[in-house]
Amino acid sequence: MTNRPNTPPHTPVRRTPWPEAAGRALATPMQPSVVYTSGSPDELDAHYEGSEQTYAYAREGHPNADVLAAKLDAMEGGQGGIVVGSGMAAITAVVLGLCQAGDHVLGGNQLYGKSLKMLGTDLPRLGIATSTADFTDVAAVEAAIRPETKLILLEVVSNPTIRVADVTGIAALAKKHGILLAVDNTFTTPRSFRPFDHGADVVIHSVTKILAGHSDATLGYACALLPEHNAALAMASSTWGLTASPFDCWIAERGLYSFDLRYDQAERNAAALADHLVGLKGVKRVLYPTRADHPDAPRGAELLGARGSHMVSFEIEGGRAEANRLVRAVPELPFAPTLGDVATTISHPCTSSHRLLSAEALAELGINEGFFRISVGIEETDMILGSFTRALEAI
Ligand SMILES: *Cc1c(COP(=O)(O)O)cnc(C)c1O
Repeated sequence: MTNRPNTPPHTPVRRTPWPEAAGRALATPMQPSVVYTSGSPDELDAHYEGSEQTYAYAREGHPNADVLAAKLDAMEGGQGGIVVGSGMAAITAVVLGLCQAGDHVLGGNQLYGKSLKMLGTDLPRLGIATSTADFTDVAAVEAAIRPETKLILLEVVSNPTIRVADVTGIAALAKKHGILLAVDNTFTTPRSFRPFDHGADVVIHSVTKILAGHSDATLGYACALLPEHNAALAMASSTWGLTASPFDCWIAERGLYSFDLRYDQAERNAAALADHLVGLKGVKRVLYPTRADHPDAPRGAELLGARGSHMVSFEIEGGRAEANRLVRAVPELPFAPTLGDVATTISHPCTSSHRLLSAEALAELGINEGFFRISVGIEETDMILGSFTRALEAI
């Protein structure tokens, strides 16, 4: 040892303090810390009593989730929402936070596949009864309501059949019967539809899709109107361990800065593609909610205005052979069962999301081997239209 008597022995194992001034960074820092220090037991006590907005343990809350939640709150016109590890985690937080054994949950019969699975087998296992109804038919929804119905789970536009739910009618029923209305707004996004303006008590998102928008983060969001409901969601998230990764939150929040531009371009492209497909030989029908030939056109106009979203479905003449030819003709459009990537992707529900459905169930939904769903991206419009011209020529 040299003669530096006042220097305590150092080991790099001990933490080096983070500069206070780093709090003034312009861009959101990524904070992966699992734990946060407190100055004293008094301070930690104040944190848990809620009198101080601090952090203790990442599973209970961390700054990257809070920054992302605040941004999504602002977009949805909500307050105090939570960010969790996936869209399914958000639905889990809502159901486990707001329902208990003996309650009944009513869902649309064309919900996202895993939501239907949760209603079909998992909630009943926990003593929560469930059923589904056609949400384009408000009389069918009313008939499915029971005295113990606690929650209605609705998607505005169904996937992949692009049917538009009777949100106004269902919101009125929910109010009349004292039922909570939870709207999964993943497809429509707050740019096309803001559920709180239409009577929703809870808004849910799979942020994984076009909100994050780059196919590199798995996240969910849920926000209730009432603070006590949000507290229940946050407690469910902490107890059931639904926490989101700080990195995913960080990269999704970064992506949201360009969300309006991305969404508007994808939507413009989707509307143009829907019109283009109608004119192509071999196309049997096109489903886009703001087109006059859509089965729910008046409702689409009422709820969405001109904001038809970035999703288009269509059916070609022919079966599996023609479907194979179409997909193989456009290798520049990834064939992937996702939605909301930056660029256009094609999916074929018959062999992916809906492969476990019976032939009768598929027929009832109008899905067959010629049915495709397109998640439209932000490429130049002509590039997308050109690809589909060639795809249809190839069959
Ligand atoms: C993808 C999706 C979900 C589930 O989200 P994950 O992030 O994959 O868990 C829920 N609802 C809708 C409408 C979806 O498209």
